[in-house]
Amino acid sequence: RQAVEVGTLPITPFKSMREAVETVCSESGVLPGFAVAVNAEKVISARDDVAIRENLLLGTILYADGISVVKTIKKKGVDNVRIPGCELWLELMKKAAQTGKQVYLLGASEETNKLTASKLSDSFGLNNLTRRNGYFDDEQDVIADILRLKPDIVTVALGSPKQELLITKLREVHPDAFYMGVGGSYDVFVG
Ligand code: UDP
Repeated sequence: RQAVEVGTLPITPFKSMREAVETVCSESGVLPGFAVAVNAEKVISARDDVAIRENLLLGTILYADGISVVKTIKKKGVDNVRIPGCELWLELMKKAAQTGKQVYLLGASEETNKLTASKLSDSFGLNNLTRRNGYFDDEQDVIADILRLKPDIVTVALGSPKQELLITKLREVHPDAFYMGVGGSYDVFVG
């Protein structure tokens, strides 16, 4: 799908959640790179601050996680729907289980992280998963995990901009994976 300019950002429009998930993960593999959720706030800060814009452009794929972004794309004559980051993450975990992908689940408290892993196993049968909570002392331990495991999908819940900065480093050592920053998604998932 051809990206559409919203403010100063190229956003990939999706007609459905299913299309978004298929784009990043399918039987044939994963999209190597990093997905960034864009809402109105990010569109505005990217326009006002070149450093923020450049940071967002590190994403391989920028998607519309905000109704005003969806509307702007529609006004340009392109049909699309909102892709909430939290839902994309959940659908991706389901798809990962169905297609036998290896997942690395990073971030949040030990309790939340552990519960998230067990709930993903119970709900979707996702068992090819390694996890680490978001309160590690040394980033090098995470980098070592990634180099050893070479996971297909890495989801990172550390809050912004911490998660984006770490993803940039992880991509350097293992560029083949699909990375996603998920903020508070695990906390929402485990309730
Ligand atoms: N977190 C973490 N390590 C840190 C800081 C935060 O694992 O050093 C986790 C925190 O436990 C929470 C998530 O990162 O699960 C941040 O969620 P928040 O809602 O603040 O992120 P946002 O969606 O606002 O970016």
